[in-house]
Amino acid sequence: MKRVVIVGGGIAGMTVAKTLLEGKMQAEITVVNSAPHYFAGPSRPLLLTGEQSLDRIVRSYEEVARRGVKVMVGTVYSVDPANRKVRLVGGYTSDGGIWELQYDYLVLAPGVVLDGSGITGYDKYRGNVLNVYDPGRVRTLKERVWKAEKGTVIVYAPKAPYRCAPAPTETATLIDAVLRHRGVRDKFRIIHIDANDKTQPPVIADVVAELYRKLGIELVVNQEIAEIGENYVVTKSGERYNYDILAMLEPNRAPKFIAEAGLGENWISVRGPQDLRHPKFDDVLAAGDAAGLPLPKNQEIAFESALFAANKILEMEGLSHRASVQYAFLGWAYVGNPEGRLETLSLMFGLDFTTQPPKPTKDPQPKREYTQRKDSWEQSYLANLFGY
Ligand SMILES: Cc1cc2nc3c(=O)[nH]c(=O)nc-3n(C[C@H](O)[C@H](O)[C@H](O)COP(=O)(O)OP(=O)(O)OC[C@H]3O[C@@H](n4cnc5c(N)ncnc54)[C@H](O)[C@@H]3O)c2cc1C
Repeated sequence: MKRVVIVGGGIAGMTVAKTLLEGKMQAEITVVNSAPHYFAGPSRPLLLTGEQSLDRIVRSYEEVARRGVKVMVGTVYSVDPANRKVRLVGGYTSDGGIWELQYDYLVLAPGVVLDGSGITGYDKYRGNVLNVYDPGRVRTLKERVWKAEKGTVIVYAPKAPYRCAPAPTETATLIDAVLRHRGVRDKFRIIHIDANDKTQPPVIADVVAELYRKLGIELVVNQEIAEIGENYVVTKSGERYNYDILAMLEPNRAPKFIAEAGLGENWISVRGPQDLRHPKFDDVLAAGDAAGLPLPKNQEIAFESALFAANKILEMEGLSHRASVQYAFLGWAYVGNPEGRLETLSLMFGLDFTTQPPKPTKDPQPKREYTQRKDSWEQSYLANLFGY
């Protein structure tokens, strides 16, 4: 029986496992995930307003195991593609010993690492760096935003590509809504510093710029943060901004073991969007945010890349099943609530990569209905992949 090892039990990893089962692949499928649970990403920003709670977006792997997938809790720290081996530290608290797994196919889907190591002062002041990406740090960010009486909030987006393009904008507008709700908005400056020439994704940048003007959120573009201090940041061009609250996303990359294995530098090298095999190894495939694709890093693209990866394995195995897939997505970006109600509105946008150039869509009118649609979409992904 063939052995498939999947590194990462998130959106992409679980999609690959499920699709291989649907394709009737006779294989021992092992998913290695660094935690015994999975936290969905898309609605994490709503933890700030209290419209979302962690228990609704956390899932464990019991149902997945019942489907016939072996799930190991452990952190992969090295891959040896020449000898088809993966090494991991077992257990959630790294007390499960060192394991070595042999594979016939390896699918790498570990998502992204937030890497502030290129920023001066990051090691010393990393405790000041809050954001909506990390489930622990979003809690601290929430506490600060709900308690602070006055000050400056800096929101930062690094150079694209990073996971979930609109999340910095979502952070800025949700913080604005909470401060309005508390009746203290006029005591705060909110400054969004963006390393890109416009807020991401570009398809809604004009709508966001107009909204920021109305809400009084200051936008600074083309500025990369180079240094963090106790209460200030400095950009590469030497501009200094003081902060009381720093909601900053670090630059993203794939975990270090990828580069150490010679499988890619910042991202895992692949042959192309539809052939996610590594250029040198037929049996090593990538999927999800860690794959080096010329596409946005979001849940829909992660899912679609995983379907392409699974289809390639089924094809190499001579099996006939193929998941139907193409690259196109619709998404919803939270934009707070200009009246300070804790009823978040969202913009709808999308990109269809089946045409050249890719076809954008958007509804420039923020709507409450889109927030509800995003919730149903996220919950249906979780039910589909984790069984509940
Ligand atoms: C705050 C936030 C908001 C978002 N908003 C949206 C949105 O509105 N719309 C949208 O489409 N997408 C959104 N996303 C992005 C979406 O969640 C990701 O694109 C998607 O989860 C990527 O799937 P993935 O499988 O590549 O990574 P993940 O789903 O992150 O899964 C990776 C898994 O690998 C595990 N792992 C990591 N390293 C190792 C290792 N060394 N060994 C073993 N396991 C490992 C992790 O624990 C994790 O479970 C958002 C994400 C966040 C965080």
